Amino acid sequence: MRRPIDTASGAHRIVIVGGGAGGLELATQLGNTLGRRGKAEITLIDKKRTHVWKPKLHEIAAGSMDISVHEVPYMAQAHWHHFRYRVGEMNGLDRDRREVHVAPYIDDEGQQVTPQRAIGYDTLVMAVGSLSNDFGTPGVSENAMRLETATDAERFHNRLVSAFGRANSQVAPLRPEQLAVAIIGAGATGVELAAELHRTTREVVAFGLDRVDADKDIKIIVIEAAARVLPALPERLSTATEELLRELGVVVHTNAKVSEVRPGAVQLVDGGTVPAELVVWAAGVKAPDFLREIGGLETNHINQLVVGPTLQTSRDENIFAIGDCAACAWPEANGGKGGNVPPRAQAAHQQASHMIGQIKKRLAGKPLRGYRYRDFGSLVSLGEYSTVGNMMGGLVGGSLMIEGWFARLMYLSLYKMHELALHGFVKVTLETLARLIVRRTEPHVKLH
Ligand SMILES: Cc1cc2nc3c(=O)[nH]c(=O)nc-3n(C[C@H](O)[C@H](O)[C@H](O)COP(=O)(O)OP(=O)(O)OC[C@H]3O[C@@H](n4cnc5c(N)ncnc54)[C@H](O)[C@@H]3O)c2cc1C
Repeated sequence: MRRPIDTASGAHRIVIVGGGAGGLELATQLGNTLGRRGKAEITLIDKKRTHVWKPKLHEIAAGSMDISVHEVPYMAQAHWHHFRYRVGEMNGLDRDRREVHVAPYIDDEGQQVTPQRAIGYDTLVMAVGSLSNDFGTPGVSENAMRLETATDAERFHNRLVSAFGRANSQVAPLRPEQLAVAIIGAGATGVELAAELHRTTREVVAFGLDRVDADKDIKIIVIEAAARVLPALPERLSTATEELLRELGVVVHTNAKVSEVRPGAVQLVDGGTVPAELVVWAAGVKAPDFLREIGGLETNHINQLVVGPTLQTSRDENIFAIGDCAACAWPEANGGKGGNVPPRAQAAHQQASHMIGQIKKRLAGKPLRGYRYRDFGSLVSLGEYSTVGNMMGGLVGGSLMIEGWFARLMYLSLYKMHELALHGFVKVTLETLARLIVRRTEPHVKLH
């Protein structure tokens, strides 16, 4: 007889929706402990089949990272770490029945793989992350690309390589928008993409595109509505970053609000126009629309689920939220500015670690602990040119600007922490060594 789908084995059912920076770490760690010993039944639901750590997306887009080396297939991860993986997009919640609704999963060829399903839980952890926010700007959906998933990043990369191919084989002079990339939003994503693109586009040209002059023909333009790049970070960091971008020849427009994205051009509110063949929307943050008041839960103006200090949602103690989709207060007493914990990988990582303890306490019937965000600072990778950032906290007694190799090391350590949580020390060490060896023998840039 076939095993029934999603029936309870009697163990406490923990369902995690979203296998990103926070959710996959949580599922893996819970699987390694509670799942392995049969103390709980852990299920991870994700609408994708593989995980890629989002701060790496700009490297995929620029072509400097081989996705196959860094992506984690959920099915294999689940098998190795004692949790279950269910593919599909959550599209509803029944809090009375304690069920998550999951849409049918349709594969790349349009074939249905799984039907609409309901998956039962005793504890639900929402970790569905966030998306960029176009604030309803006309033309963004039709004419700009986003960097929210590995598919987006690969699509951008393919279009970039095609644009080079076209320009190289063209007899007529280049049109003003040709080989111009406009990046809207000069937060970490936009700035990192600009620097990474600067390097990789030169490498692409060096691979035999003899009719493209990298310095003359390629234009990278960053457009930011605020008065400076990296507006959320200290001013010193913005100044250093902007100087470096300008030295590279990246055109930076600050105080420039976009009113519309048209095919081949970005229209600014002040009447200016920026011609661009490729436009990337990398501004704003909001949680996915399906979360808005889902199941009667409290959400804020950007669809985040409102949680208390224990990370439990304000209206249902059986439902927790972590990472970018959670509105978790960051009080001034804890070093915050009176707002919420910022949507960053380090917050998702910390909250996932905190949740492991919370769930164990919950199973033991013990009171839960309050979460306290620790800001270790922010780091921005400007490709191989530099890394800038600030370190926070008691260790340095406030905010200290860092730059260069030390900042690079700190930046890399954030990803290493994520990899360690997913794969453990031995595997990460061996894989890192293997990558270093391969990197020395292969070109840095991907061309397909
Ligand atoms: C290009 C880019 C660069 C960044 N760089 C940095 C950086 O340098 N430093 C930093 O700290 N932060 C950075 N961030 C932010 C960081 O990636 C996020 O803060 C972090 O990934 C949030 O983790 P999360 O677990 O909340 O969500 P995510 O990592 O976004 O994961 C969400 C998961 O939920 C799944 N999902 C979404 N909706 C559904 C649904 N309805 N049903 C099922 N599954 C669903 C998604 O497939 C995904 O796997 C960057 C983000 C981007 C996009």
